[in-house]
Amino acid sequence: MQLIDSQGRNINYLRLSVTDRCNMRCFYCMPKEGIVKKGHDAVLSYEELQLIAETAVGLGIEKIRITGGEPLVRAGIVGFLSRLAGIPGLRHLALTTNGLLLTRMAAELHEAGVQRLNVSLDSLNAGTFAAITRGGDLKTVLDGLEAAERAGFPPPKINVVIMRGVNDAEILDFAGMTLARGNSVRFIEYMPAVKEEGWQRYCISGDEILERIATRHTLEQVDKGQYAGPSRDFRIPGAHGSIGIITAVSGHFCGECNRVRVTSTGHAKGCLFSDEKTDLTPWLRPPDREGLARVLRDTVMGKPERHNISRDGYKHSNFTMAQVGG
Ligand code: SAM
Ligand code: SF4
Repeated sequence: MQLIDSQGRNINYLRLSVTDRCNMRCFYCMPKEGIVKKGHDAVLSYEELQLIAETAVGLGIEKIRITGGEPLVRAGIVGFLSRLAGIPGLRHLALTTNGLLLTRMAAELHEAGVQRLNVSLDSLNAGTFAAITRGGDLKTVLDGLEAAERAGFPPPKINVVIMRGVNDAEILDFAGMTLARGNSVRFIEYMPAVKEEGWQRYCISGDEILERIATRHTLEQVDKGQYAGPSRDFRIPGAHGSIGIITAVSGHFCGECNRVRVTSTGHAKGCLFSDEKTDLTPWLRPPDREGLARVLRDTVMGKPERHNISRDGYKHSNFTMAQVGG
C-alpha cells in the first residue's frame, strides 16, 4: 500500500519523537534552561507510540526514524526499539542521536534491530562544539561514533547544521570526513526555530556550502536512496561517504517531501514549519485503530504544497526542534 498525499507525493517516512528532553542544550534548538518538564501523561507511553507506528506502517509508511529531544535518554528505549523493529512491513528503522550515550548503548541498539544511526555533530573543534551545545563534550561523541561501528553499524551519517561565523570554517573538514572515515555527511541549513536574537546572521545557503566544497574537491551527483527525501546528494570521487545538502530554507525542496511527523506529546504534523498539528490522543486513549488511521491519513492529505519560511513577512510560532524532533 502507498500513502500518496494530495500533491501526489509518496509519504513513506515517519519521524517519531519519543521525548522532548535532552542531555545537551544546542543553542539553535532549545533554550538554555531546557524545556519545561511535562507531566507524566503529556508524553505518549511506549504502547501509544507503538500503536501509532503500527498504524502508520499499515497505511504505507516504510521507514521510521526515532528522534527527540535525545531519544537515548528515555528509559526503556531499547526494548521499545526492538518491538518496533518487529512490526511487519516496516523496512527501515533508524535513529537520530547526539551521540553522547552511544559508547554505552551502541551494541544494544544494534541488537534491538536499529539499522542506521544519524549522529548530529556540528564541530570537530572541542571549544566550538562546547559553545554550540552549551557544554557538550566532543570526545564523548567521537568515541560514540567508533563504538557504533564496532557494534556493527555502518559508519553513522553525520548531520551538521552550518552557521555563519560559528562553524562554517569547518565545511571542508566535514567534507573530508567522507574520504578519511567513510561517514556520509549531511549539511543542514540553519533554520530559525527558536528565533534567537539576530538569527539571520547565521544563515548560509546550501549553494554556498557546495561552492565552498568545490574550491577543494570535485563533486559528482549521486542517486539518493529510496527514503532520502529532500536532500541533494554528492560524492567526492573515491570517497566512501556521500555529501548531502538539506536546503530547508533557501531551496524549494517541498516537492520531494516524503515525511510526516509525530511529536512525543502525540501531535501529528504534516509540515515542520506549519503551525497545523493534530492531537492524536483522542484516538489513543482509549485505543481506536480505525480512527487513528483516519486521522493520520487526514494529516498526510493536509500536508501543504510547500512551506513559506523563506518568503518575506512569513511568521510561524516559535518552537524548539526538540519538541518536534527536527
Ligand atoms: N537529539 C538528537 C540529535 O541532536 O540528533 C535528535 C533530535 S534533534 C532535534 C534532530 C536534528 O534537528 C539534529 O540533527 C539537529 O541538528 C537538528 N536541528 C535542531 N534545531 C535545528 C535548527 N534550528 N536548524 C537546523 N537543524 C536543527
Ligand atoms: Fe538536544 Fe538534539 Fe536539540 Fe541538540 S539538537 S539540544 S542534542 S535535541
